[in-house]
Amino acid sequence: MRALVITAALVGLLVAVPESVSAQDSGRTHHTENVVLVTLDGMRWEEVFHGADNRMMNVEDGGVKDLLATRRRFWRGTPKARREVLMPFLWHVIAKEGQLFGDRSRQVTAAARNPHKFSYPGYSELLCGFVDERIRSNNKIPNPNVTVLEFLQRIPDYSGRIAAFSGWDVHPYMINEERSGVFVESAFDPITVAATPERQAMLQAQVDHLPRYWEHFAFDSLTFARAMEYLRVKRPRVLYLALGETDEWAHARRYDLYLQMANRNDRMIRELWEWIQADPQYRDKTSLLITVDHGRGRGPRDWTDHGANVIGAAKVWFAVMGPDTQALGVRENVATTLGMTAATVAALLGEDYRGTDERIAGPLPDVIRE
Ligand SMILES: [Zn+2]
Repeated sequence: MRALVITAALVGLLVAVPESVSAQDSGRTHHTENVVLVTLDGMRWEEVFHGADNRMMNVEDGGVKDLLATRRRFWRGTPKARREVLMPFLWHVIAKEGQLFGDRSRQVTAAARNPHKFSYPGYSELLCGFVDERIRSNNKIPNPNVTVLEFLQRIPDYSGRIAAFSGWDVHPYMINEERSGVFVESAFDPITVAATPERQAMLQAQVDHLPRYWEHFAFDSLTFARAMEYLRVKRPRVLYLALGETDEWAHARRYDLYLQMANRNDRMIRELWEWIQADPQYRDKTSLLITVDHGRGRGPRDWTDHGANVIGAAKVWFAVMGPDTQALGVRENVATTLGMTAATVAALLGEDYRGTDERIAGPLPDVIRE
């Protein structure tokens, strides 16, 4: 009888628990409170999973300026060694502690569903979770659809705590900065957030003093620096970092610089993750998701290109790591689409984005521990 009384009392307690109780108090095992989404524009799955391709490590098809230095830096005897030297954080940390999708030798599909295979349709697909046929150019048109960032921005717990940084000046339109209220800085926008006036001046000087090599796109180092500063100062719950030099150097047929940027982007992500894991607000409460907006051509001639008629350009990949993601490493036998990115970002936070629109793809399978 005594046991029954206690049980009844416990039931009473449980019923009285308010809905706003935190995940930990309610006994759920969900830990993610913050998400960092990173995109590496047009980074091919081929290099991610196999490392540098010998067919482009030359002057003619790869535009490599210093063959010896590029080989010394990125060529190794096996694909495993090549991918590890190219993206060491991805392979030494994420592959061990998280999950990777996109290795075609493991019966995995990871595809963009939009027919265009270039940036705006790709980013819209990954941020909105579905393909909209009206999105068919890279023009600066405000996205008619709500991205997962805007969806979160509308939830009080996240409002004002969503920020996006991109090297490309079209990202504010894809995110619909004006309507969404998401904080967006891109390309050569002035630096508006820094810990001190001195730091602001220092970051602004970099923007002002470096050459504007591309008219609408800033070097990844600038975008990364301003995003890190914002993270330290404003402490957003969702940070979207869009890097894109990989795409620029590929279009320019500079395989050496494309490889360099894959490697430098990997290091930036490591720095970001190490900062997160050293900070009490973020440590063990932050999930990281990395993907791309499109793939590229497969061979020595067309690796530079992407688009509707380029075979291979629909192929994408994903990397996920965080407190709610099992360490399954390189995933096998699984079908994924680029649009799964959006619902995954929300689901990592315990939010249901998919319920807002039936077109939205579900989250990446089994990245969130039940
Ligand atoms: Zn491109």
